[in-house]
Amino acid sequence: MKKGINTICTHVGELKDNEHKGAVSPLYMSTSYAFEDVETKRYPRYFNTPNQVALSKKIAALEHAEAGMIFGSGMAAVSTALLAFLQQGDHIVLQQTLYGGTSNLVVEEFEKFGIDYSFTKDLEISSFEKEIKRNTKVIYIETPSNPLLTITNIEAVARLAKQHELVTMIDNTFASPINQNPIDLGIDIVIHSATKYLGGHSDILAGAIATSTAHMDQIFQLAKNLGGSLSDYTVWLLERSIKTLALRVERQNNNALTMAEWLKNHDLVDTVYYPGLKDHPNHELAKTQMHGFGGMLSFECAASVNTTSFFKALQLIKPSMSLAGVESTMLLPALTSHSLLTPNERYAQGISDHLIRFSVGIEEVEDLQQDISSALRAGL
Ligand SMILES: *Cc1c(COP(=O)(O)O)cnc(C)c1O
Repeated sequence: MKKGINTICTHVGELKDNEHKGAVSPLYMSTSYAFEDVETKRYPRYFNTPNQVALSKKIAALEHAEAGMIFGSGMAAVSTALLAFLQQGDHIVLQQTLYGGTSNLVVEEFEKFGIDYSFTKDLEISSFEKEIKRNTKVIYIETPSNPLLTITNIEAVARLAKQHELVTMIDNTFASPINQNPIDLGIDIVIHSATKYLGGHSDILAGAIATSTAHMDQIFQLAKNLGGSLSDYTVWLLERSIKTLALRVERQNNNALTMAEWLKNHDLVDTVYYPGLKDHPNHELAKTQMHGFGGMLSFECAASVNTTSFFKALQLIKPSMSLAGVESTMLLPALTSHSLLTPNERYAQGISDHLIRFSVGIEEVEDLQQDISSALRAGL
């Protein structure tokens, strides 16, 4: 029988403590194992220690995949996946709006590997099709995207890729496996920055990949040479974090929807971007491919609000670069993720100087509302 999501989070892959009958997975810190009895030699950089293997099973179960792999960071997972399927002379099509680290990897490093790339003009499926060339091997997407929470049609991208025999990859970090399972929609390789929702407490740097065993074999061949594995202690902590993943994310989904609706009606807020709102341009699409709309939203405060004073006045919500923890955090994309663009380049992407990205935590919404209301007034 198929297990429920909280049962998967809590139990799949757990290691038995046969000696002491403890309730949680024992932690095996060994970097050295006997050579006689394991077919592939056990070594942390081979991704096959007991704790690594156990957690990989949970990741695979969460993403409805045959295999999972845990990495030392989200970018270790992204770079390993990309380079495992691209070589000199190949071309990749990437979605226009991507996590900054991923576009930096492509723009700053791919030329020296002789890998050609194109970013789509927008998220229309015809824009993906237009960029496919004779030597294209991979299509790479990310949905919902940062910071405007745009939605890419996952199933349509997967179908297009199959017609052209291309490998598809998705960064599923913002949705988490609770809200979106791209393999069910035809995507080949699912990537997570486990630093975000999987970790969930802003204290773990990690990454993960879920895919078929055949694709994972190809990824493993490169991964063991690149060496981006995660230490077993952090693997063990990540297992603990994921036990509450579904509980946390369901709460964050509910909080984010309540906050999005409340912000929309606030007289010092102009626009709210959240795929769960009925007037979000991609709401209907989001409904077809997401089980929940996630804990990330962004909003534009009124031009009369001074954003520096607003951030200074926040008491509860932390101004913070990262996201997806149990605590609510906010940042100003114009000063952080998109600070290297000129103001006009930012405006062209829809990122105004008053746009605030909000990672909604698990606190009571009344407390969040009070904090935002008084900070907005302090910004006048
Ligand atoms: C944070 C993040 C990454 C990179 O992950 P790290 O764990 O910081 O290496 C990749 N994609 C998205 C969407 C992210 O938010």
